[in-house]
Formats: sequence, C-alpha cells, structure tokens
Amino acid sequence: MSNLIEKTKSAYEYPLLIKQLFLAPLGNNPDQQIVYRDQLTLSYREWKERVHRLANVLTSIGVKPGNTVAVMDWDSHRYLEAYYAIPMMGAVLHTINVRLSAEQMMYTIEHAEDDVIICHVDFLPLLEGIRGRISEGRKFIVIDEGGDVSKHHFHLEGEYEQLLSEASAAYDFPDFDENTRATTFYTTGTTGLPKGVYFSHRQLVLHTLTTTAALAVPAVQGRFHRDSVYMPITPMFHVHAWGVPYVATFLGTKQVYPGKYVPAMLLKLLDTHKVTFSHCVPTILNMLLKEPGSANYDLSRWSCIIGGAALPKALAIEALKRGIDIFGGYGMSETCPILSLAQITEQELDLTPEEQADIRCRTGYPVGLAQMRVVDIEGNDVPNDDKTPGEIIVRSPYLTQGYLKDHVHSEKLWEGGWMHTNDVAVVNSKGSIRITDRTKDVIKVGGEWLSSLEIEDVIAKHEGVLEVAVIGYPDTNWGEVPMAIVVSKDGCNFQDREIIQLVKASVDNGVLPREAITLKVQRAEAIDKTSVGKINKVALRKKFS
Ligand code: AMP
Repeated sequence: MSNLIEKTKSAYEYPLLIKQLFLAPLGNNPDQQIVYRDQLTLSYREWKERVHRLANVLTSIGVKPGNTVAVMDWDSHRYLEAYYAIPMMGAVLHTINVRLSAEQMMYTIEHAEDDVIICHVDFLPLLEGIRGRISEGRKFIVIDEGGDVSKHHFHLEGEYEQLLSEASAAYDFPDFDENTRATTFYTTGTTGLPKGVYFSHRQLVLHTLTTTAALAVPAVQGRFHRDSVYMPITPMFHVHAWGVPYVATFLGTKQVYPGKYVPAMLLKLLDTHKVTFSHCVPTILNMLLKEPGSANYDLSRWSCIIGGAALPKALAIEALKRGIDIFGGYGMSETCPILSLAQITEQELDLTPEEQADIRCRTGYPVGLAQMRVVDIEGNDVPNDDKTPGEIIVRSPYLTQGYLKDHVHSEKLWEGGWMHTNDVAVVNSKGSIRITDRTKDVIKVGGEWLSSLEIEDVIAKHEGVLEVAVIGYPDTNWGEVPMAIVVSKDGCNFQDREIIQLVKASVDNGVLPREAITLKVQRAEAIDKTSVGKINKVALRKKFS
C-alpha cells in the first residue's frame, strides 16, 4: 500500500498563497496603523479595503491572471497594497528598480513584459524619456494625488487615488496553484544586462514564515513581534524589502513607510513613531549617524539588520555606542532574500561593544530553512577554523529557480544542484559564517587571497576616514596589490602614511595577513555606489586600476 496521504474529497488542501498571509488571524488587527511619512495614517481595516479596491481597479482595466503589473513608487502604503493585490489576483508583481539607467529600466520593462505600470508622478519623466522606444499596448496608472491627469503627455488610465475611491471595496481573491509566479525583479549587476529573478506564492509564504521564526530565535536581541514598530529602509523595489513587510502584515504590526529616503525625515519618523525595527545597507546607517542633529535623537529602542554588504566594525561600534541594536544579515536578490542573521545571545550582550561587534558584524547563522555550505574549489566543505575561505552555496525552498528567460546563466547559478552565491566566506567552530569577499573582488597578492573587507574594516577605524573601499590594483611583482580608496571627513587632514601604519599595525598583531602591507592609498572625493547604495567595486576598478 502506498504511504502517500489520502485526500478526502471535500478536504481543503490549503495552498500556500500570499492570500493566506493577508487573511492570517494575527494580521486581523483592524485598528493597528500603517503610516506614510508625515502625511497619512491608515488603519489596517482601511488599508485592507484599499487592497480590494486596487484589485478591482486592475480588473476593470483588463488585468488577468498571468499578466504582469509593474510598480514605480517610493516606499509607501501603496507599494504594500501592490505587494498583496497584484499576486493575490494571480498576476505577477514587477518591482521596477527606479535607480537603474533609462536603458536598463527599459530593458527590464520589455523583458518582464509588463502589461500595466503604476508609476509615481516623480518617475513619469523617466518613462517619458523612453516613450516611443518601448513597445505599445501597455497601460499606465499615475500616482499623483490631487494632480491633473490630463497635463501628462501619456495616455493614462487614471490617477491611483481617484481610481481607488471609485472602485468597490469587495474583491473575491481566488485560490490557485501555490507554485504560481507572484513577483519578479532584476538583479542590479554592474556589468551586462540586468537578470530577472522570480518567486512563487509558496516561496514567499515559506520565506515569511522562516523570517518570522528567525527573528524570534534570540531571547532578547533583534526580535520582531506584534508590538514592534517597523520601518523599512531598503527600497521596496529591491528583494521585497527583504520580505519584512510581509512579516509585519502577517503579524499585524505597526508599519511606517518613509517615502523617498531623506535622512532628516527618516530620523524624524524613527523618533515620532518610536520605531523599533528596520533594515538597511551600511551606507544608509552611516548617513543617518552623520546627519547633523542626529545625536539629539534617542535611537536606543531601535534594532536594525544591516545587510546587502558587510557591516563594518567601526560603524557597528559607533551604532552600539548610540544604543542601537545592530546586527548583520545576509541574502541576495536570488534568495528572496534572507539566508542568515548574526544574532547574539543574552550572555554575549554583557561583552564590550568592541567584542560584540566581532559577533554582530559576521554574516551569521543560517535561518531555519536555509542550508548553507562553504566549499573549496573541489566542492568539499572547508574546516570550521574561521580561516579557510570557500564559496557559499545554498539550498532553501525559496530560492529563484533560475534567471528569467536565461538558461545559460540559470544553469550556472544552479550548477551541481546548489545555488552558487559567488561570495567567499569562512566558518567558525560554532557554525557562524563570515563573508570575506565576493569571488570577483578577492585580491590575489603573490598567489595569496586577501580579503578586501578585512582591510576596509581596519582602515575605517581611523577617525578621519569617512568611507573606504579596497580593490585590487595590478602590480608587476605581486600580480595584484590592495588599493584603498579613501574619502576623508570634512576638515580632517591626515597623511596616507597614517593609513599604511594602521594596516601595518594590524599585520603586526596578526589581524591582517602579511601581504596587506603592499597596500597603496588613493584619495577620492566620493566612492561610487550601485543603484541600491552599495560600494560599486567594478566602477572603482575601472576608474583606478
Ligand atoms: P543583491 O543581489 O544586490 O542583494 O546583492 C547580494 C550580494 O550582496 C551578496 O551576494 C553579497 O555579495 C552581498 N551581501 C549581502 N549581504 C551581505 C553581508 N551581510 N555581508 C557581506 N556581503 C553581503
């Protein structure tokens, strides 16, 4: 007899759909608030009605299951509406990266085959710039509350708020296969064309449950719960804002959406709403801490995951001294994204900020449903000695199954049945991972691998340094040597020699390998960033090597 479970004819199979997150009992918190900047506060009851209205608007303009609806907006309650209404109709949500070049954005719109684009008025000029070069037949809705729709050169279906107000607040979201595609967006690679990744309903539900559980693992640190106050500071177009908006809505937690990121406004919202939980890249945190007047804000209730790039130790220590519960998180566009978190135990909270930073700045421990291995070139797991580098490869139920319409790169991504991250890392005896580089950023000095991140960490501790990035620089003797591109703080004068001495001291006390003393220093006014605010080492190599 087969041991497959029998299905009673009338039993409900419960497909893992985003609808189930939307309807989940905890999220049924009708008076809880969803805030947009300093402009609007909605109750969950009102917001949920708007999700139904949006589905009716889209249906009325012809959107059907399988169609793609794209969004270009700042982080807002409206974006959150799209996160639910579009996939719950059976359509695909394409979150357009509004910081791509016009050419790249045009490519993603065509490649994803967007049927409808919901566009904030601030981004209409971008669309106007590529008008006539993208194929016809697409429909557009503008977000321009109180604006005059007829003034735009585009044919628009209408203004978002106007359309919503005229639509019915009742929509019957259907059940369908949990493997239906729910979202798509494009990786922000700095070379070549953007690559599309995609996630199903099942994957987003499993990612939400895994993240909810992971943030409940530590006893006291970095927790996220129903009484948290959440504000994302990684754009909603990028990897579902790390999936936390789905977690927050699922738990019925208060949410604050900051619109366009303006440091003064972010600080004001953190303060006014007593925000307890966010996530952002290191450059944004650095900006918030350096913002004039920032020291006047009490940030001691705030937990913040830092991901997208390694959390530099100097920044972590500065944040800890301000009372911020800072810790690293790791993931990629391809991974939905959350793979690991650098959480800390209750006992470790008694350590000094410097000692805690060593733990909090790591890439951390894999979350519940993420299997992560660090392997050498032959595919063998490296020893847990925190020294031997290898590539991180992963398996989990919520990884993109490939790149959209791109078999060659998809096969390479999944070579051998494991997803290849191209991130180089070491593992310690407790199983905590620490990324030391991207495979493409590793510097090879006389055949030895040198971690650019470790050198950056040392240099960032110099009090005159605002920002630093370390890249490989061609050298006839060594093949390559490290070059530190250093931006100094306003009014700070120091010699390159001081940077070299700092690195030499770290070599002497065993923090950095001997090869690091081949360092060169290059001053710059600013450091190039990618469209999501990370250090752009490809651009830096082009400029300086
Ligand atoms: P993206 O697909 O744009 O989200 O970029 C993903 C890449 O960012 C990863 O492959 C890593 O190279 C880098 N990254 C993300 N999180 C971390 C982290 N905690 N530490 C170091 N690098 C990270």
